[in-house]
Amino acid sequence: MMKIKGIGPKKVAVLWKELEVETLGELLYACNENRLIELKGFGDKTQTQIKKALEFTISNAGKFHYAALEKTAMTLVDTLKNSGFCSQASLTGAIRRKCEILDCIEVIVATDNVEKLISFLQSAGIAHKTERNNNDLTFTIAENIKSILYLANDDDFVWQLFHTTASIAHKEQLETIITGEQMAGKKYLSEKEIYLVYNLSYIEPEMREGLEEIKLARQNALPHLVSLANLKGILHNHSTYSDGIHTLEQMATNCRDLGYTYFGICDHSKSAFYANGMQPDRVLQQQKEIDLLNKKLAPFHIFKGIESDILSDGNLDYDDEILKTFDFVVASVHSNLKMDEDKATARLLRAIENPYTRILGHPTGRLLLAREGYPIDHKKIIDACAANNVAIELNAHPYRLDLDWRHIAYAVSKCVMISINPDAHSKDGFHDMYYGVCVARKGGLQAEQTLNALDVIAIEKFFKRL
Ligand SMILES: [Zn+2]
Ligand SMILES: [Zn+2]
Repeated sequence: MMKIKGIGPKKVAVLWKELEVETLGELLYACNENRLIELKGFGDKTQTQIKKALEFTISNAGKFHYAALEKTAMTLVDTLKNSGFCSQASLTGAIRRKCEILDCIEVIVATDNVEKLISFLQSAGIAHKTERNNNDLTFTIAENIKSILYLANDDDFVWQLFHTTASIAHKEQLETIITGEQMAGKKYLSEKEIYLVYNLSYIEPEMREGLEEIKLARQNALPHLVSLANLKGILHNHSTYSDGIHTLEQMATNCRDLGYTYFGICDHSKSAFYANGMQPDRVLQQQKEIDLLNKKLAPFHIFKGIESDILSDGNLDYDDEILKTFDFVVASVHSNLKMDEDKATARLLRAIENPYTRILGHPTGRLLLAREGYPIDHKKIIDACAANNVAIELNAHPYRLDLDWRHIAYAVSKCVMISINPDAHSKDGFHDMYYGVCVARKGGLQAEQTLNALDVIAIEKFFKRL
């Protein structure tokens, strides 16, 4: 940690003692949750500096969160499209499939002037360390991000786009229908046409992972994937009542201005001392403010929620007297993350069985590229959520994306609702809903199975177990 600009031994000691931070990734996430602002010797400015330095260091390690590369990748595609040397350009590969972790940016172009394209990329300062291979170029762009640029022409562009987008497993399954050799070398007008030749309905890029999608496409039973436009409200957010940086009113009105019809506030509960968790009197104070705001902002509605810590024994950290005052409870694990699978699963099961729990928050507590998840038996957890009619959060922060999308199909098969929640600690955090939707689509989630795609009346019924 001392290699990070702005952190000396004194600061490392404070971070370790006060926040139990042990890795750079954990530290970066702590910045996201504004944990450093209140620490002795830190502050808003220091937190911003450290965050910047960390992002740089982590980006040099060769693996990236999807969100870290998306903008650079989109800009690259736009630049290529406007270069005058490509007739078509698109993202492809893992970034087009919206994979949560990436090691490079993959782009495909149709060009008949490779040499000019290369000199353009180099002279514009976009491509460094360029290597030309048979069918692609590899180079690095800003901050050592590796990029692969596949070279196609107008005739084979669609086939190459399809071919470079699919995961290996997806392609292997397609091979058993018709070999790639037979398919290649033809001009297709769209990827839909390619799937038609395989006798399959069109599979969205996000789903081309080689799980169940080809079987479903054959049966014409692919899900109609959820989109951002389907979502009607944003649940699980923080405000200045705990560790957020915007007030309850600022968060709620911004949510409304983004076009949503309801907002759920879920500040931290009393055991989350590190996050300024709320004692019962603060809870009641917040609920009074919500009553006033609901009058002022109607028909927009604020639900009274809480992110209640799951204690080591699986109990929630308020008495029933307080728990019953909330419209809904998100139960989350934040401490004592080093349990074995049996204990960790039992702890969550107890929390799921609590009659006040309506949503299980970030089930494993993982931080992508920084911290392994809490080891849980996903099947048992999902079964218990089904039995107790508890929804599971898909935490939409690009470092979390927890529930992992690979478990969505099983949850849906058990009729467990998935709630796409940004866990926003500031207004900017609402943007993370988009990343949640990206991976929800990978998991085949439909709007009907998404908790916050319900309208305000239906979700109130869900909260009240009606
Ligand atoms: Zn949490
Ligand atoms: Zn939270």
